[in-house]
Amino acid sequence: MKHRHHHPCPTGKVRFPDHQAAVDALHKAQTARNFADQDGVPCSRREVRSYECTQCKGWHLTSRATPPQSRPA
Ligand SMILES: [Zn+2]
Repeated sequence: MKHRHHHPCPTGKVRFPDHQAAVDALHKAQTARNFADQDGVPCSRREVRSYECTQCKGWHLTSRATPPQSRPA
């Protein structure tokens, strides 16, 4: 089964169609971290928040605590 990428993002990041989908993925990442922590193993899932992408109008996850900000001109 191939991934369905209707509107790939120029950033190359995984794109979620809406906020709810991004939140669901965040929760899965959180759960993965919790299980890894219980087992004392490293976990590569570090996403902590979702943000709406200005380029693809979709949603992405980031490990940064604050959303990416465009630099003031
Ligand atoms: Zn995007």
